[in-house]
Amino acid sequence: MLQKPYLMVPGPTAVPERVLQAMHRPMINHRGPQYEAMFKEISAGLKRLFQTESDVLAFPSAGTGALEAAVVNMLSPGDLVLAVSTGVFGDRFAEIAARYGANVEKMDFAWGTAADPVRLAERLAQDENHAIKAILLTHNETSTGVMNDIEALAKARGGHPALIMVDAVSSLAAMDLRMDAWGIDLVATGSQKALMIPPGLGFIAMNERAWAAQAEAKMPKFYWDAQAVKKSLAKGQNPYTPPVSLFFGLTEAIKCIEEEGLANVFTRHRRLRDMLRQGLQALGLEPLAASDVASPAVTAVKAPEGIEAKKIQKLMREKYGITLAGGQKQLENKIFRVGHVGYVAATDILVTLATLEMALSELGMAVELGSGVRAAQKVMMEG
Ligand code: PLP
Repeated sequence: MLQKPYLMVPGPTAVPERVLQAMHRPMINHRGPQYEAMFKEISAGLKRLFQTESDVLAFPSAGTGALEAAVVNMLSPGDLVLAVSTGVFGDRFAEIAARYGANVEKMDFAWGTAADPVRLAERLAQDENHAIKAILLTHNETSTGVMNDIEALAKARGGHPALIMVDAVSSLAAMDLRMDAWGIDLVATGSQKALMIPPGLGFIAMNERAWAAQAEAKMPKFYWDAQAVKKSLAKGQNPYTPPVSLFFGLTEAIKCIEEEGLANVFTRHRRLRDMLRQGLQALGLEPLAASDVASPAVTAVKAPEGIEAKKIQKLMREKYGITLAGGQKQLENKIFRVGHVGYVAATDILVTLATLEMALSELGMAVELGSGVRAAQKVMMEG
């Protein structure tokens, strides 16, 4: 039977047709006026999406590159860094800082739960001499489907001078993140999730406090040097040859987001999450994250008793053309993850639930066909 592919993973995500078409253009000179005009328009658009007045710097890289840029531009070897981790990506941010010689203190929370602002405030209160230079946070922990409350975590800093650095790779432009209003010093993200373009671009935005720290930071850097990127940005350029096609795409993707309206984009992501969770519940499946911390971008689902997560993914992919993500590290084969970030419509959730019902039934689970879809339809129609 003909299959229509559905990429229901939390990145890289589906790219809208109009963005793909915008990318399908001949190269232009990246040191010429046409590029300069485009890049200045993009930079202004990115500031709106980051909800900041500060410059947003682009690095041709994966999201991990943006995290590395964040670390080497803010810190010096030996700096005490408090790395708040709720899963794989919190651990990665910590590991990058440690690899560059920071003195990393982990604050771990059980996978599937969110970071507790009270615990953070308590730790900072103990740090009377202000030895902690930076706090690393993950907005949306993609490995567990948990959204951390960045506003509350940033508030927990109180009067402590530590810099707040946020990994927003799977959250920026999918859920509210007010860099300036919430006093976040650095936000890092990547291109391949809510920004709805292919992988290949990392971004960081730094406020004035972050730039002051940058001037003092001693970690080695050449490619990741934010000064070089900022200097070029003033001329509407990048220091090194940029992926021009991705910027063609980004111009169009920013238009897509702004035509829908950023607030509406956030509402849509929450609705997708609620539809999916109601559908899963009707099928007797349990998400890893509790409702109050559930991510609007990705849902991690516990494999039902006696059925391996990988078998569900395989059947969904091979028979129905729906690609789901698996569990990472300690969650491997214990969960599967449904990405609903970026170019995802409510109808995509209905298709996912309908096929999941069939796959689970074929794998031996007692499922009432249509019950998950019905529960999701109710949420969709209420909206
Ligand atoms: N941080 C988070 C929260 C992520 O979800 C990801 C990717 O899924 C990354 C960092 C790393 O991004 P990349 O795979 O582009 O390096």
